[in-house]
Order: sequence, then C-alpha cells, then structure tokens
Amino acid sequence: MVTADGLRDEHVLLIQCPYCGERPEPEFVYGGQAHIARPQQPAELTDQQWTDYLYRRDNTRGPHAERWRHTHGCGRFFNALRDTTTDHFLATYRLDESPPRAPGESAK
Ligand SMILES: [Zn+2]
Repeated sequence: MVTADGLRDEHVLLIQCPYCGERPEPEFVYGGQAHIARPQQPAELTDQQWTDYLYRRDNTRGPHAERWRHTHGCGRFFNALRDTTTDHFLATYRLDESPPRAPGESAK
C-alpha cells in the first residue's frame, strides 16, 4: 500500500471486502459482534433478558464472528470471522451468506 506521504507501507493489515476486494484496514470500521438477532417479542422479555440482548456480547478467544463496515470504500456492511488471538481475518462474507466454519470446528 502507498501511504498519503507516498511511502510504501508493507505492514498494513489488509481486509477482504466481499464487494471491493482486498483493502487496507484503515478503510474499515468495526461494528460489533455479528449475528445478534433482535427478539421477536421484546415486551415479553424480562429486564435482564432485554439488558443481555442490548449489552451482553461474547468475549471469544479465537475465531469470532464480527460485523464490519467498509466505511471509506463501498460503505457496505459485511461479516468477518477473525481470530482474536492473532488478529488474522479467517474469512469475510456478505450479510446474506452463512458464516463459514472456523478451523477446527466440526460439522453440525
Ligand atoms: Zn467495499
């Protein structure tokens, strides 16, 4: 990648946008844990269940499904499977695609 001052930066993290291809990490914004489904009947939940839906997230060590946005590119949201121990992106996928299996994860 060539930086704004014209120098080549060989150490920038690259992320594969499912729509644009491989781009430098500063073009992206993290959007939290992926696959959080809004409850169908929120009024039927206890305060604790609603609080958990709003605020409680996994604190995964290893592969973690996350929502990302290519803010300074196409502007679209997508999901990524990122290993939190190495910061390596294992896969990225569109919102209408199923998450890929993490390495070592058995078939269901
Ligand atoms: Zn993009």
